Amino acid sequence: MTQGSAGQKCEVCSDDKQTYLYHGEYPAKLVLCKQCYDGYMAKEMTQYWKDHIQEEKRRTGQC
Ligand SMILES: [Zn+2]
Repeated sequence: MTQGSAGQKCEVCSDDKQTYLYHGEYPAKLVLCKQCYDGYMAKEMTQYWKDHIQEEKRRTGQC
C-alpha cells in the first residue's frame, strides 16, 4: 500500500482545501486545515507557556 498525500482531509472538520501535517505530542500526527492547525498550535503554545511559567514560579518561589 502506498501512502500518498493527496486527498487528505482535516481530521477535525473534514476540510480538504488545504491541509497541513501537525506533529503533536499525542496523537502523533494529525492532518489539519489551516484553521484547525492554528488552533492546535495556539493550544500547544498556551500549554507550553503554562508549564514554563509554573516551573519558573516553582524555582523562584523557593527562596
Ligand atoms: Zn479543520
